[in-house]
Amino acid sequence: MSSMSNDEVDVVVVGLGWTGSLMSIELAQAGLRVRALERGADRPNADFSYPRPADQYAYGLRNKVMVTPRDGALTVRHDLAGNALPTRQWGAFVPGTGVGGSGLHWTGVLIRPTPTDIKLKTYADQAYAPGSLDERMQIQDYPFTWDEIEPYLDRFDKICGLSGNTGNLRGQIIAGGDPFEGPRSSPFPLPALEDTLNNRMFAEAARKLGYHPFPNPSANVSRPGKTPTATRSRRATTAASAASTRA
Ligand SMILES: Cc1cc2nc3c(=O)[nH]c(=O)nc-3n(C[C@H](O)[C@H](O)[C@H](O)COP(=O)(O)OP(=O)(O)OC[C@H]3O[C@@H](n4cnc5c(N)ncnc54)[C@H](O)[C@@H]3O)c2cc1C
Repeated sequence: MSSMSNDEVDVVVVGLGWTGSLMSIELAQAGLRVRALERGADRPNADFSYPRPADQYAYGLRNKVMVTPRDGALTVRHDLAGNALPTRQWGAFVPGTGVGGSGLHWTGVLIRPTPTDIKLKTYADQAYAPGSLDERMQIQDYPFTWDEIEPYLDRFDKICGLSGNTGNLRGQIIAGGDPFEGPRSSPFPLPALEDTLNNRMFAEAARKLGYHPFPNPSANVSRPGKTPTATRSRRATTAASAASTRA
């Protein structure tokens, strides 16, 4: 790590991925002294400068930014009576390690839940005959409303510099975005990424069939911009692209 000290702090955050980073920022902004402990490497700016992120051996094969079974050995039981077996090799969706955590090499597709998603039990009870859901299913509504959670989704969109087409701005449906998304309080912070040829062909065909195609919201920023908390998103994206060959 870049620096260590034994100064007294109010809060110790263990792990510096998205969760730990945002928690650390919020707590520090609230006036608390925060120390974050991260098991993996720090990330100097040079790590994000070309050609380093294009080193496929380091990132794609040796999982430089990802967890190894030594750091994170989950165990698996194939049935309730079985022995716990350790993970010997991670396959797809290998979690991250080091400052940034999985957020360093995630794909950056950032799709919000819908108002229906957060009230799924209510929806299912209304949409299907009573008793359709097996009583052993633990499906529940989240204990907050869309209006309560939306400002936080909006803030995270802005932190990520989310690129996309707005589909529903305060209840007004806008062509080119997702017409089924929950109402946004503000538009996407950045315009959608430029479509590739195959995306354009797919969208055209879908439109002819009467559908409403839209680009996936992406935290791979479409252009430079200011976020409320960070200034490194474009560089992080470069490393993510190199690392995503194993994702
Ligand atoms: C390959 C991949 C692709 C993904 N793509 C997407 C996507 O497109 N869209 C999306 O929304 N989500 C995606 N995700 C999921 C998303 O990246 C994660 O949900 C998110 O990054 C989790 O953040 P986190 O801070 O909770 O955990 P993590 O990012 O896992 O961070 C935990 C941190 O804690 C550290 N740590 C763990 N144990 C200790 C310890 N004992 N001491 C000190 N430090 C410790 C780890 O090194 C790590 O840095 C993807 C995930 C992966 C792995």
